[in-house]
Amino acid sequence: MIKVGVLGAHGRMGTAVCEAVADADDLELAAAVDQDEPLGKLTDAGVDVVVDFTLPSVVMDNLAWCFDQGLHTVVGTSGFDEARLDRVREMLGADPDVGCVIAPNFGIGAVLMMQFAAKAAKHFSSAEIVETHHPRKVDAPSGTALHTARLIAAARAEAGCPEMPDATAEDATGARGGEVDGVHVHAIRSAGYVASQEVRFGGPGERFTISHDSLDRAAFMPGVLLAVREVPARPGLTVGIDDLLE
Ligand code: NAD
Repeated sequence: MIKVGVLGAHGRMGTAVCEAVADADDLELAAAVDQDEPLGKLTDAGVDVVVDFTLPSVVMDNLAWCFDQGLHTVVGTSGFDEARLDRVREMLGADPDVGCVIAPNFGIGAVLMMQFAAKAAKHFSSAEIVETHHPRKVDAPSGTALHTARLIAAARAEAGCPEMPDATAEDATGARGGEVDGVHVHAIRSAGYVASQEVRFGGPGERFTISHDSLDRAAFMPGVLLAVREVPARPGLTVGIDDLLE
């Protein structure tokens, strides 16, 4: 039985993680901690793995404390750029005893969509991304769309693919969308959606579309629980859940 502690336990994601852990037969929800509560609740309860869904402004202090206590960590909190990931590697040290999984997206379907898009990229002459999110989202395009576009561009560059065909000479309204490493990305903000993405490929005589819809935070839970189960056996930093899915 793995004893799990959740940081950010009263937040939207934290609440869902607490429920998912409590429902899993092989996991025990040993501690649920939110703002202004002592982190010592985690060690008092003897947790093995800490899950952090808090804020970018507090997560680094939480990680430093967990590493000091020798606790494995699974982190969904956003804001981990390369500089931050390097800092986490430094904090873990050269020969770490503990594991830390940091994933910008715990949605297994979303991660597979990106993997499939990268695999398909070199086989089609055209690729564009259409992402649709709820209208409260403040950034566009989504991090998932950005990452997908970069993966497609990298796969095409590695395979030596030519530029995608596009005769557009005038685009006064920006109707062709944004461009990420040469891949066009279209962001729709609409009531009635949570998070959806289509990756549309086209080639001579065929179209190929990869489509993914997130409807609820429940979609992240299998990925979070997978990381909780795997992290004790993976010392050091693991970024993303791609390797865990193998
Ligand atoms: P939220 O605001 O609902 O929850 C954050 C919680 O953290 C709050 O309850 C807050 O009180 C608590 N908190 C703040 N400081 C704390 C501290 N020092 N110690 C313990 N708890 C503290 O936010 P949310 O929607 O649950 O999202 C949390 C994070 O997860 C965000 O960064 C979000 O972008 C990210 N997120 C990641 C994924 C993923 O798949 N990786 C998916 C969804 C959201």
